Amino acid sequence: MEEKFTVTQRQRLVELNASEDLLDLFFEDAGQRDSFFRKEETALARVNKEKIINLMGTKHKPLLCDVEDRMITWLTETEDFTQVATPIIISSGMLEKMTITAEHPLAAQVFWLDAKKCLRPMLAPNLYEMMRDLHKVVKQPVRIFECGPCFRKETQGAHHMNEFTMLNMVELAGVEDGGQMERLTKLAHAAMKAVGLDNYELEITESEVYGETLDIVCGDIEIASGAYGPHPLDGKWGIFDTWVGIGFGMERIAMAMGGYQTIKRVGRSLAYLDGARLNV
Ligand code: ATP
Ligand code: MG
Repeated sequence: MEEKFTVTQRQRLVELNASEDLLDLFFEDAGQRDSFFRKEETALARVNKEKIINLMGTKHKPLLCDVEDRMITWLTETEDFTQVATPIIISSGMLEKMTITAEHPLAAQVFWLDAKKCLRPMLAPNLYEMMRDLHKVVKQPVRIFECGPCFRKETQGAHHMNEFTMLNMVELAGVEDGGQMERLTKLAHAAMKAVGLDNYELEITESEVYGETLDIVCGDIEIASGAYGPHPLDGKWGIFDTWVGIGFGMERIAMAMGGYQTIKRVGRSLAYLDGARLNV
């Protein structure tokens, strides 16, 4: 009878970043399987251990932080965007202004701290406020971005975490009406060049509510979503110019770059660091 890895063996191999092909192997009997497992586990544990040793000894910066740094350097030094830091705790009013009320799909994903305060599920509401106020001061195009934690209740899975790092860039009054998609496309390509990811595709989708949107996808992973205005929500925020914006998932980019199957290897964790399992 053909044998596959046991659930526990499989789980351990996944933890150690075994390839998909390896996980699906068949064996003639349990004995052959178990000895193969022991050999593979030892070899993979060594690879994980070497990664940690290399990180502590010379590399010093996990891939996730490296991706953030590359994006920030690109935006501030090449693209003339200014970094902002806004609150992680936001009010229900801010979500309502984004039309995230009870019926909205995102509403069920929000972590509430009390009746009026929650952990931000996105950066858009804060950036709307910020870009409006900055535009009043400087009058010219406003280019800002924030990189920081966002929180969503997710049914987990390999591409979702409850806490993740979003980098959201927005440019207000930077292009003439009609030029938004071209600008978004240019920024998306430049961002991928800056982080060093080349196996990606841009997907433009037409939605009735949001107009045209642009996603950056890598295999079956959505790594970023872009949108532009004028947009039906803008009036509520006192925004009356064209804008373009892209929200990038830092862990998703790190996952794609490191070739990892699951996002938890690169996200905030006590079990993994820089893609390597700690209990090897
Ligand atoms: P998905 O459809 O994959 O759940 P989304 O379209 O809801 O993502 P957006 O609101 O477009 O996500 O957020 C912008 C980016 O933030 C996404 O493209 C993705 O890279 C990242 N992101 C969103 N939710 C999560 C999550 N729970 N964990 C990790 N990254 C996320
Ligand atoms: Mg999206």
